[in-house]
Amino acid sequence: MEIIRDIEKMQSRAEKTRQGGKRIALVPTMGALHEGHLALMDYGREKANLLVVSIFVNPIQFGPKEDFEKYPRDLQKDSRLTEKRGVDLIFSPEIKAFYPEFFQTYVTVEKVTQNLCGASRPGHFRGVTTVVCKLFNIVKPHLAIFGQKDFQQLIAIQQMVEDLHMDVEVVGRPTIREDDGLAMSSRNVFLSPEERISARSLFQAMQEGQSLFRMGERKTEVLLNRVRGLIMEQPFTRIDYAKICHPRTLEEVKVVEGRGVLALAVWVGATRLIDNCLLEDKGQ
Ligand code: AMP
Repeated sequence: MEIIRDIEKMQSRAEKTRQGGKRIALVPTMGALHEGHLALMDYGREKANLLVVSIFVNPIQFGPKEDFEKYPRDLQKDSRLTEKRGVDLIFSPEIKAFYPEFFQTYVTVEKVTQNLCGASRPGHFRGVTTVVCKLFNIVKPHLAIFGQKDFQQLIAIQQMVEDLHMDVEVVGRPTIREDDGLAMSSRNVFLSPEERISARSLFQAMQEGQSLFRMGERKTEVLLNRVRGLIMEQPFTRIDYAKICHPRTLEEVKVVEGRGVLALAVWVGATRLIDNCLLEDKGQ
């Protein structure tokens, strides 16, 4: 497996691959890979001839007080894991080449990024859509694979691709979880053993929300009271948001008609975790 750092080299490799009639799949990541990321790669391996994983901790999607500096990085371990999963190529550019001094062009998706994490993390999604747009221009994938765990990110990218007529198929794949339900995340390593126990409450609360929904409850207030209660009764937790939104517009709803997405962001100690599930009669 090859590691490419140089942007032009990646572009010419992508161009040659396309000219040879081969399909390219891209899995964009920030590294510190876990089974959640690797499941996206397994899917891409099936669908493409050249499977590219980008590893880039993107500075412009972190706020000034966020964890950019301490975000876990381990390229050696990541390359061992990706190689085992049949990845052809890691693209891992240098920050200075990716965002040179005179860089000044950003992609902003306006409405679906307003609520949820967009409200708590100003500028975050502008950073995400900009990096993904740039990665698409460099890696030239036919197919790009993202996790539903970052539901709002997936919706924003789908909106960008649609609005800007980007010739890329975007696929969202299910969230991979630990045995007790905690969504896998590179940030889980920051949890102390006690916090790790409290972190289960996100999944437990979502399950409770889903089961109330299946029993016929459609009022957001009732559903969220139960969800919030279960999370708040655990030590170390502080809810950033717990909302039920329309799964396409991400606007909050008072009553769930058809389908809704239950979205959570919860501080557990100093670590902010996010998760979500669909509310629909057969569940996610
Ligand atoms: P990140 O490295 O956190 O930026 O994530 C890279 C990609 O992996 C994104 O598309 C995420 O949505 C996806 N991802 C992260 N955690 C999981 C998970 N537990 N299950 C499935 N996909 C995930």
